[in-house]
Amino acid sequence: MVKKRKILIPEPKSRFIRVKCKQCGNEQVIFDHATFPARCLVCGTVLVRPTGGKAELVNAEIVKILG
Ligand SMILES: [Zn+2]
Repeated sequence: MVKKRKILIPEPKSRFIRVKCKQCGNEQVIFDHATFPARCLVCGTVLVRPTGGKAELVNAEIVKILG
């Protein structure tokens, strides 16, 4: 008797990262897999843009990766 039971644990591959805006130096936490462009809260510069998977950093640099 073959058991075809699979246990799938939904593991979140996404995470939050702390980025620094290259324009004004503001640091903020954004979602690694953003599905929408994230903007700097201070100057409004687009920090990341969605690519369908992992978000691409545009005008930001990673300061720290949070969990
Ligand atoms: Zn900024």
